[in-house]
Amino acid sequence: MKTFSIAIDGPAGAGKSTIAKKLAHLLQCIYVDTGAMYRSVGYYCIRNGISLEDEEAVSKELPQMDIVLQHTSDGQRIVLNGEDVSQQIRNTEVAASASKVATYGAVRKSMVQRQQEMAKSTSIIMDGRDIGTVVLPFATLKIFLTASVEERAMRRLKEYEEKGMVCNLESLKEEISLRDKQDSEREISPLKQADDAIVLDTTHMEIDEIVAHIQMLLKERL
Ligand code: C5P
Repeated sequence: MKTFSIAIDGPAGAGKSTIAKKLAHLLQCIYVDTGAMYRSVGYYCIRNGISLEDEEAVSKELPQMDIVLQHTSDGQRIVLNGEDVSQQIRNTEVAASASKVATYGAVRKSMVQRQQEMAKSTSIIMDGRDIGTVVLPFATLKIFLTASVEERAMRRLKEYEEKGMVCNLESLKEEISLRDKQDSEREISPLKQADDAIVLDTTHMEIDEIVAHIQMLLKERL
């Protein structure tokens, strides 16, 4: 049964997915990582030799992309055409490709349709860039998370290091800034705070503190 929907938007590394996952666990609802869907589109193109610069070619491939978010006891899995790509989509090359294909109208239209379908009949938490503005304009609660570029790059570095990946802080800062710019300046559905979103700067906040705060805000709304 659907009782609420929570939209969490914000730039890369602001803590969206960590917070959304914790909240979904506490509130016993579905979490949808919409960034993973755009990453899957980028990854599909890289794997199949489709130029990321060629909007028409990328758009033509959309019907061939079956993207499924599986909810398992040990987290969410992203399955692209039957293959679990959860790990493969988590690197800077795929992140940049996602940001590129996310500027294309047909890609956005297709992803938004799939996301709205998922949110139709169940309580849900979605994170992304356009959830409060486009995907769930009538969400029960809209949160916009921010944090300084330094802090966000540090978080990404830690995340990659924990996975055994080699990265350096300066190049991560550059990658994040570039993605922020592309995501906020694109013509269609740019990253921006919805008028009715609550802004939380997470730079100096602990994850559990933010989660508790969002839970309280939701309680007030219901
Ligand atoms: O959130 P994540 O870093 O995984 O997103 C990867 C890219 O996908 C973003 O940089 C953005 O360009 C795109 N995206 C988007 N709209 C969303 C989610 C992600 O444009 N709702």
